[in-house]
Amino acid sequence: MDRPPTPSPPDLRAADATLPRASGTPTPRASGTPTPRASGATPAMAQWFALKDQHPDALLFFRMGDFFEMFFADAEAASAALDIALTYRGEHQGGRIPMCGVPAHSHESYLARLIRRGFRVAICEQMETLEEARRRRAPTLRREVVRLVTPGTLTEDSLLEAARPAWLLALAADGEARLGAAWLDVSTGAFETEAIARADLPALLARLEPAETLAPPTLAAALTPLRVTEAAPPRDPARLVAEAFGVDTLEGFGQFAPCEVAAAAMALDYLRTTRRAADGAALAHLSRPVPRGGQGVLQMDAATRRSLEILRPARDGANGNPQDCLLGAVDRTVTAAGARLLAERLACPLDGAEPIARRHDAVAALLAAAPLRAALRGMLRGSPDMARALGRLASDRFAPRDLAAIRDGLARAGTIAEALAEPPPPPLLREAAAALLPQPDPAPELVRALADALPARLDDPGLVAPGYDGQLDGLRRLRDDARGAIAGLQLDLAQAWGVASLKIRHHQQFGYLAELPAAAGEALLRVAPAAAAGEFTPIHRQTMANGHRFTCAALAGLDRRLAEAAEQATKRELLIARHLRDLCLAAAPGVCAAAAALAEIDVHAAAAELAAEGGWCRPELVDRPDFAVAAGRHPVVEAALARSRGPAFVPNDCDLSPGRRLCLLTGPNMAGKSTFLRQNALLVVLAQAGLFVPAERARLGLADRLFSRVGAADDIAGGRSTFMVEMAETAAILNQAGPRSLVVLDEVGRGTATWDGLAVAWAVLEALHDRIRARTIFATHFHELTALAGKLPELAPATMQVQEWKGEIVFRHTVAPGVAERSWGLHVARLAGVPRAVLLRAGAVLEALEARARGLDPLSDELPLFAQGQAAGPAAPAAAPDHPVLAALAALDPDALSPRGAQEALYRLRGLLDGGVSGAWESHGQERRG
Ligand code: ADP
Ligand code: MG
Repeated sequence: MDRPPTPSPPDLRAADATLPRASGTPTPRASGTPTPRASGATPAMAQWFALKDQHPDALLFFRMGDFFEMFFADAEAASAALDIALTYRGEHQGGRIPMCGVPAHSHESYLARLIRRGFRVAICEQMETLEEARRRRAPTLRREVVRLVTPGTLTEDSLLEAARPAWLLALAADGEARLGAAWLDVSTGAFETEAIARADLPALLARLEPAETLAPPTLAAALTPLRVTEAAPPRDPARLVAEAFGVDTLEGFGQFAPCEVAAAAMALDYLRTTRRAADGAALAHLSRPVPRGGQGVLQMDAATRRSLEILRPARDGANGNPQDCLLGAVDRTVTAAGARLLAERLACPLDGAEPIARRHDAVAALLAAAPLRAALRGMLRGSPDMARALGRLASDRFAPRDLAAIRDGLARAGTIAEALAEPPPPPLLREAAAALLPQPDPAPELVRALADALPARLDDPGLVAPGYDGQLDGLRRLRDDARGAIAGLQLDLAQAWGVASLKIRHHQQFGYLAELPAAAGEALLRVAPAAAAGEFTPIHRQTMANGHRFTCAALAGLDRRLAEAAEQATKRELLIARHLRDLCLAAAPGVCAAAAALAEIDVHAAAAELAAEGGWCRPELVDRPDFAVAAGRHPVVEAALARSRGPAFVPNDCDLSPGRRLCLLTGPNMAGKSTFLRQNALLVVLAQAGLFVPAERARLGLADRLFSRVGAADDIAGGRSTFMVEMAETAAILNQAGPRSLVVLDEVGRGTATWDGLAVAWAVLEALHDRIRARTIFATHFHELTALAGKLPELAPATMQVQEWKGEIVFRHTVAPGVAERSWGLHVARLAGVPRAVLLRAGAVLEALEARARGLDPLSDELPLFAQGQAAGPAAPAAAPDHPVLAALAALDPDALSPRGAQEALYRLRGLLDGGVSGAWESHGQERRG
């Protein structure tokens, strides 16, 4: 932003104030900022009150000259949100009027910040010039709200995330059990609908992450904490939707439930109200609504998405790397539209062998054809975002570059279509290639019409190429001739007035004037103006400190011609720009399809690139509930290890085939349990999204639902305890999972006291095994659960392998059949830097607890963990032993140590330690293993 918002009154504000005020004496009252009544307002303020009345829940950006002003509570809210000065303007009903403003030319960046903070903004423009208002004898300029800016109806690049769709979601109730949902992305024109069960609403919200949600008040409660805009279906929704797309009936678009149509109509209706009614193009680029019902998708709820970190890391923000999520790790797309499509696909994998196989075919073809893939990616890279450009063209706030985006995007599409022509690609790529050439094709005319170097803004001259429009060329010639003529006139006047140093200069207010130095100007003034004024007769305009300004009839005439020609040329260019815009919108369906095809090709080429890079394989998807992965990897952890140049990722097999459907995974902390769980869940997401997977081989039975749970951390914001969250999330699995589902549970039950947690985990495991029969991986620190191994025939115990080496444990990150020997908790605590004295004490306590547990535990004869050591075992020292390290430690005064002294002390302690306490650890460990 090049100019800070300043409250100083620009021209028109001053002008406004000179217009007559409405009569009436303001009633004095205490300055109550929020909602004063309009009576006694100046004409402009009266207008403000009227418009504010129509948009009570939006900030009103009230155009006054070069600024958008806000008043009263709006001003207070906006000045706080934007951190700009709150000032006061005039008085209303005896109180000062709080005001703040932002410059019109840079208002977008302020708008962006307000929208991000959840405000809705009504943009109110001046609809006439001051002269027009005066001619009408109106007390103030006519103003109208031309646009309502809301989070779900944006088209500006500066307000949108390039790589994320921005859904406006509308929900319509249909009786008790069902909901109609319609979601559209105004910035790209995508439009889909679905009728869903009410219970599936949270999953839909988690999948779409709507920027804005419209719902009737009855539903609003169910949607908190989402920001909801209250809305109801308009009357005769089917007609509204049909008319919006210029058809008589929706039948041709597919099968819609009435509640889907109602939701679609709500979304369209809302879109209309956010745009100026006169802007007929507002909906021109929207694609017809596509009913999604019947197309099988992999269901994932919000907790699952969070725990799998599909589109973003769980710890967003300062210490989270945005790459540490599935999308970040697998995104090799080279266009924004491709990145958006990939994000959509990962958020909504399919459940249907056929459509997934078509995607895999496309990836396989591009994996095999490396040169073609490289060529395609080269052509895609840097190709413009046609879908979003079209969205802006439809919004009446387009810039010349949006027209260029369509021209250049279609040019790339043409070359890519050629590249895909030979040899015949698999069906999906063939269809995409066919869509790359839209009918009608606006590109040839855009190529002829647009200049090589385009101006940044529509009102700047130079959009149209010479030779495209004869009339414009004529006007431009006139304008440029006049410029040449001015230069000629300067010579003529210098001669006629005898002043060689005469200069013709342009002035904002007076147009072209001849400037003369002081002496020459005074000499000219002394020559009395001739009675019969000639063409060159000087007319004095202005005296300055060091000179004089003159005009004459010839100069004034030329000035007029120049201004007229320039103005007409600008008008003509604007007209042509609108014509080109209409041309693009008339071709919108084809252009949208071409843009979608480019995104599709980008996604498949990117998936192939990824597979080539990492040696990923094409998963075999089957309808049986199989699950057999050879050498699978976790794409995010593997990438993170590679980035930090850490050790290589260790691949692991996973077999959950019938007969061994339930894997019970034990092992110490940090051994890789969580990684293993998630990697197998992510493989399913990737495979069913249509990508290849990081494994040597994978045969996966299609999953209908995917659940992933982590023993929860407290949901402080939600005010629920750890255990409550865990149980709510577990209940969802027990109620929804089935034999085609995949469930990964990570230490569920750890949120409560040991025996409760164990009991719940036990019962959940039994239910999953006996009743639900879902493929499941269950990681637990309850080693007691391994007692179930003998009782549940399909339960296969597995453990993370750990090696002991000189009293240290080494994590091998490999999964092996069997049960963890011990939990190694104290070793992990030691790795984490827990002080040695505390560790020794913990060792003693553990010993004692284990001894007691053997006496109490009803399952003790089946507990492998405890069955190993015998009850005897000499108790570890109950208090800190007399050790030289401890004595030396006690002698240290930390406050008195310099950093350097501290380091030396550490070395000394370390020296004392070698052969001392570590030996004790080793013998302790061995004793326990018996
Ligand atoms: P756990 O759940 O058993 O406590 P995690 O799955 O959180 O362990 O893994 C801890 C760390 O170990 C990970 O952050 C990662 O750095 C490393 N790790 C896990 N699995 C592997 C693997 N298969 N290969 C290499 N490193 C791994
Ligand atoms: Mg873990």
